[in-house]
Amino acid sequence: MNIINLYENYNSYFDAGFKAIFELCSKIALKNGYQLYLIGGLVRDLLLNQNSLDIDITVEGDAIKFARILESEAKVKILSVHKNFGTIKVEINGKKIDFASTRSETYPKKGHLPHVDRIGCNLKEDIFRRDFTVNALAMSLNQGSFADLIDYADGLDDLKNKKIRVLHAKSFVDDPTRIIRALKYSSRLGFEIEENTLKLQETYLKNVNYDMCNKRIKNELKKTLNEYSQEIFEKFINQKIYRLISQKEFKIPQIGIENLIAKYKPKHPWLVYLGLIAIFESDVLSDKLELTKNEKDIILNAKRLYNSNLNEDFEIYKNFMAQKLETLLILAISGQEKQVLHYLEDLAKVKLSINGKDLLELGFQPSKLFGEGLDFVLKEKLKNPHMKKSQELEIIKDYLNPIA
Ligand code: ATP
Repeated sequence: MNIINLYENYNSYFDAGFKAIFELCSKIALKNGYQLYLIGGLVRDLLLNQNSLDIDITVEGDAIKFARILESEAKVKILSVHKNFGTIKVEINGKKIDFASTRSETYPKKGHLPHVDRIGCNLKEDIFRRDFTVNALAMSLNQGSFADLIDYADGLDDLKNKKIRVLHAKSFVDDPTRIIRALKYSSRLGFEIEENTLKLQETYLKNVNYDMCNKRIKNELKKTLNEYSQEIFEKFINQKIYRLISQKEFKIPQIGIENLIAKYKPKHPWLVYLGLIAIFESDVLSDKLELTKNEKDIILNAKRLYNSNLNEDFEIYKNFMAQKLETLLILAISGQEKQVLHYLEDLAKVKLSINGKDLLELGFQPSKLFGEGLDFVLKEKLKNPHMKKSQELEIIKDYLNPIA
């Protein structure tokens, strides 16, 4: 097998700070008999010369012990430790690094968190527990083989051919969240899902095992749908990936969701997509996805308003004013585009200049008529948005005077 050395990629990809850290780790590893590797998404991104989100180093052996040695020999701050998975997050010279012990895993309960069989297994076993070949690349940080690529799963070929490929035929059965991860990578990297992988995906989606850890599905959905939009969502629907959360058939609406999201920038775009499905499939709202109260409310409010036939400006204003942007966007893409856009573009800008305090100052006694009066002024102001405060006061005086 030809050994491919990535020193040139390494040298241009990392800044001097990271290189100094890797070289320090490499020295300490040699002195203490450890083998270290950059791994996973980082090696993929290094080869593609794309920014990577995390710096992951795998220690062949016990990463926690290694990090403790590092701590005793250099200025290292331990940020968090997960004994069960043998992982430890540290900060060195202001940079955060995740060290993970090599580990082998099995899935005794399909669709749930894997069982860690062994912490400190050999690198090859650690590689083969991973999701896709392009995420199963490693780069040596060890003296003598520094920057050598380790490619047990032929990930480099798939990277060159832009393919997302699972490592074995039971991959999606073990962990269906990988279907959403494949969608994420295919869109992010512009890769295709390899033919056999796509078949495995289709087969799984025809017969989803709903006894799975939905919280993990939720987390992957959130990451994926928040990061990308229309294209991801279209594939989510067209490839029937939604079957992971809904047993109802679903068609994509004929409206540019992406444009709406790009224009109004909701904080949680994934909830807009999820809400669209939830409107037609109540099961999504059951406790299985472990939605927070806030997430549920956003969707429930959209569901409540979905059948309302709002036509008058005042009605639209009163019903929409307290809603989160995500709720309004769910309504827009599920049939009320005209009302929602009219609200967001025009009505929402209308604000009364007067309030109850002004009425007290005018000498009116507090009463429930205040609310009615203010609504009356609002109705007028929606017809004439440029109305001044003095005009608002005149209208409310007229409204309240006969009964004041
Ligand atoms: P991102 O850039 O989105 O963080 P990443 O590839 O770094 O992508 P992570 O979710 O941070 O992905 O996971 C790090 C690595 O752990 C992956 O590259 C993959 O090798 C492995 N991994 C993550 N999730 C799974 C999973 N569900 N099954 C198998 N391996 C996984």
